[in-house]
Amino acid sequence: MLNLADINTLEKLLKSEGFSFKKSLGQNFLIDPSVCPAMAEAACDKETGVIEIGPGVGVLTQELGRYAKKVVAIELDERLKKILPKTLAEFNNIKVIFGDAMKLDLLSIINEEFADCKRVCVCANLPYYITSPIIMQLLESKLPIDSITVMVQKEAGERLCATVGSRQAGAVTVAVSYFAEAEILFGVGRESFMPPPNVDSAVIQLKIRDKAPIFLKDEKKFFKFVKACFAQRRKTLINTVSNSLGVSKDKLRECLSELNLSDTVRSEQLTLDQLADLCNLLFN
Ligand code: SAM
Repeated sequence: MLNLADINTLEKLLKSEGFSFKKSLGQNFLIDPSVCPAMAEAACDKETGVIEIGPGVGVLTQELGRYAKKVVAIELDERLKKILPKTLAEFNNIKVIFGDAMKLDLLSIINEEFADCKRVCVCANLPYYITSPIIMQLLESKLPIDSITVMVQKEAGERLCATVGSRQAGAVTVAVSYFAEAEILFGVGRESFMPPPNVDSAVIQLKIRDKAPIFLKDEKKFFKFVKACFAQRRKTLINTVSNSLGVSKDKLRECLSELNLSDTVRSEQLTLDQLADLCNLLFN
């Protein structure tokens, strides 16, 4: 089997196939032999079905094929149609689907492909241009998945896994905390990729919760409220929410006071519980 994490092997393969990297598709391929086994081991076991987003030439896909029961890898770049059948030829538990992971019906794929698996997870070295949208889509669509183990830009990972109520937190942090327990597993330097990106990376794991950690009267309104809360980070919560949602400042002051919160509080200072309580009070 081709050792795709070996830079010489990868260069030779890409040259013989006439493949050139497309920056617009976030194509930075892993060339660090320790990363893919560590990701696969953290993500799955022999009873797991794995969805991989963006297999590239298949370096992580091969490891997932070793560790998981079955792998479905979704790749947008049709130029890889020539390469993947060769690099994955030895695996009979890997299926490649060509398409856009943002547009495909992942629920149907899970139901059709993983009926014989005990659990399903997502594992990927994500194309960085769609990190947040794809993670939000995976979480909000409430797919029957146990976990998401993905490589993301280091700063994005820190934000996604931050504690709600800390300076690093944003609207995406609140959403992640609501749907999952998030953890940074390990850092990966830029030299671990070909071509090397301008930033370092991190592998994060989101373990999907069985039950929401807070009570919400209206989940949709909560996420609209949270988006408004973090829209202008330097402003007080009263100013940013009244500007973006058109709620009166008096009403906001009244609700904050009922929760014993100062009217100069900024959104990043509120915990997940406090954001939920405030939203429930404002829109009851
Ligand atoms: N898994 C490989 C690795 O670790 O070396 C490649 C990872 S590379 C960062 C991201 C991959 O995602 C590329 O192969 C790219 O073509 C693919 N990709 C980009 N956008 C995609 C999308 N919307 N749906 C599926 N794959 C996509």
